[in-house]
Amino acid sequence: MIRTKIIVTYGPSMASDSTLKQMLQYADIVRINFSHAKKEEQTALPHKIRAMSEKMHKYVALLADLPGAKVRVGPLSEPISVKKGDTVIFSSKASKGAVEVMQYPSFNKDAKVGAYIDIGDGIARFRITRIDGNRIISKAVENGQIASRKGLNLIGAEMHIKALTDKDKKFARIAKKNGFDLIGMSFVSSASDILELRKSCRGMPIIAKIEREVAVHNIESIVQEADGIMVARGDLAMSVGLEHIPENQRLLVDVSRRAGKPVIVATQMLASMAHSISATRAEVNDIANAVSQGADVLMLSDETSVGEYPIEAVKFLQKAAGVAESFATSRCYECADAACTDNVLLSAASMSRARNADCIFVPAQTGAAAKAISWLRPSAAILALATSEKVMGDLSMYYGVQPVHVERYGTAERMLRIVRKVAKGMGVKRYLVVTCTSEEPGSAFTLKYVEA
Ligand code: PGA
Repeated sequence: MIRTKIIVTYGPSMASDSTLKQMLQYADIVRINFSHAKKEEQTALPHKIRAMSEKMHKYVALLADLPGAKVRVGPLSEPISVKKGDTVIFSSKASKGAVEVMQYPSFNKDAKVGAYIDIGDGIARFRITRIDGNRIISKAVENGQIASRKGLNLIGAEMHIKALTDKDKKFARIAKKNGFDLIGMSFVSSASDILELRKSCRGMPIIAKIEREVAVHNIESIVQEADGIMVARGDLAMSVGLEHIPENQRLLVDVSRRAGKPVIVATQMLASMAHSISATRAEVNDIANAVSQGADVLMLSDETSVGEYPIEAVKFLQKAAGVAESFATSRCYECADAACTDNVLLSAASMSRARNADCIFVPAQTGAAAKAISWLRPSAAILALATSEKVMGDLSMYYGVQPVHVERYGTAERMLRIVRKVAKGMGVKRYLVVTCTSEEPGSAFTLKYVEA
């Protein structure tokens, strides 16, 4: 079993029951992208996935990824081709002869002469030459194309956009009602964006998607407020520049590791596998790099949602991450030392190495102990005995933690009895058990080594 968690993005490529079922064997989390999801995929699909995974005796968490306020070109009947030096006018209000820009009311206030407008993944770039009221006049830097509803970024000027839309709030309520475990918030700018979203989905863990330069600047406070972060490399590359992705990824992973929050590395992990049966040498290195930096979760997007080889992609991701873990864990252990201060939990991690234990059983009323051990990156699996689905969903983002549902574990004696039963069922021979001295929250831990 690999310790790195895997998110697969739902889409037409995995929609058939047989592919979905296969996918659930490999995935820890299924992401439903609310930017594209139809009504029944927001409401009926989560229940279907839950029922399927229950039959497999596996907890697969569900992530509702909210669209956020993505700035886009308005709808166009056909793409506009531009030549280097052509003048193009943009406007946040529908205006004759101008390309309309959606969800960006302060565009003309943010825009500066000399700054650039980027469209799509670098499909077109324009230099702003003049601002005339709502009309932003620009010149094409290269030959390019403006296609309908493509993302738009301002380079060289700060974008002031409210991250949360009314649609997001509505989607968050739908997600909560339909049993999603996690919420992804797109285009976060600051910690206050997350606080605002919480009002619509109280009690649900929120993953802050870092995809704007301003979010990188505010990362310390965002990490404190969020329950996890995603290095959303697709849109982040548009904001900071593609060549700056490696340094930003490293920074974001480090900040969240120090704060003890889980971190997801996303987008184009296996992009070539959307159309090819095998990955590239560069992609396998990217996976290993993310694992050795300390990522908890790796995410597939197009590879599983619209790709031709969804199952092959997730299988390869699992294989490559598993190999990377075998040489990557010691560095993570050192850098995570400070994130856990409980001596019993520290001992559980180090003793599991010394005794070559198969797993560590941990009580998970709140999940805090399982999270702390996860930061320490032991090679043993962390089996978290959780009494609620809420905790199981939250733990699905943490490296090495496998949530196991139990009704109640009560006293240390009772927990040991449950553990013996679970361990026997799983065929585990050498394991450690962390127990609580009493059922009261905050009670001290004890540690026991068992060899069956
Ligand atoms: P998206 O986010 O799939 O919602 O665009 C991921 C990214 O931007 O990398």
